[in-house]
Amino acid sequence: MRLASSGSFFLPQSLRMRIFAICFIGTHVPLLSFVAREAVRGQFAWGDLGVLLVATLIGTAGALYGIHALLSPLKLSIEGLQSIGRGEPVTIGPVAGPDEISELLRRVNEAAASVHSRLSTLDHAAHRDPLTGLLNRRGFFAEIDPLFAARIGGAFAILDLDRFKTINDRFGHPAGDQVLRDFANRLSSVCPRDTIVARWGGEEFVVYFPRTDEVAAQRVLAAMLTSLDAVPVGPTGLPPITFSAGLVEAGSEPIERTAERADAALYAAKRGGRAQVLVERDLVARAGE
Ligand code: GH3
Ligand code: MG
Ligand code: MG
Repeated sequence: MRLASSGSFFLPQSLRMRIFAICFIGTHVPLLSFVAREAVRGQFAWGDLGVLLVATLIGTAGALYGIHALLSPLKLSIEGLQSIGRGEPVTIGPVAGPDEISELLRRVNEAAASVHSRLSTLDHAAHRDPLTGLLNRRGFFAEIDPLFAARIGGAFAILDLDRFKTINDRFGHPAGDQVLRDFANRLSSVCPRDTIVARWGGEEFVVYFPRTDEVAAQRVLAAMLTSLDAVPVGPTGLPPITFSAGLVEAGSEPIERTAERADAALYAAKRGGRAQVLVERDLVARAGE
């Protein structure tokens, strides 16, 4: 048994054991006084001693049960605080009652809710693009890192809006912002549910199609081009916007290398006249002809 290094020198360190020791001593005072008195008198009233002994045992058992019940919320609080430390959502409950321990649990719950909400806000701010609501570059990496690590394969594309600067120049920056927002929404809605769409920066977007080959991914992006022509994005009156994209097979190498290859295909799409989705594989095949 370890002794407390501060406070009561002779009491054990565990709070549970300390309270028990105090109760044990308290409940045994009548018994010990009785035994002392009987010893001084030189005769023992065994019947009385038996009753006192049983009463002391019942009192001790009751104290033990009470201590356990009183202290279990403290254990919950410690576990709750550990969860808060790990950034996990935590609610300790039910918490009712006017006593100090209920108050402590309520405060732990409040602290947990506040920390969790602040962490969510910070996490959202760190991983989302405020203009479009899409993942930003950091958010994109966070999402795809485990998928790339699991080598599930797929297709990766970089999209760049064509001649976007002229939109800003002719219609103003707010109109350009509106185009970016609408474009982001449209792109998210045409892509399959498990696709990861992000704003790479400026007027560039990236899309990762997990477990999808380039032909299927190209079909989705071509449908996006058609949709932009049929129902233009941005404020009414703007000419339809187009984009160019470079599409590559993904998942067998680090994302940075994959992005470089997609960028090269995008560059070829720009040079080749814009408003098109070029697949790296096709470019390589063409170059070999
Ligand atoms: P290209 O077809 O060669 O891609 O031509 P571009 O005009 O799209 O490319 P360029 O790189 O010359 O211009 C990109 C423009 O995108 C310039 C920049 O002001 C604009 N842009 C970048 N971020 C934002 C934004 O958040 N809002 C608005 N409105 N414009 C932005
Ligand atoms: Mg660009
Ligand atoms: Mg552009």
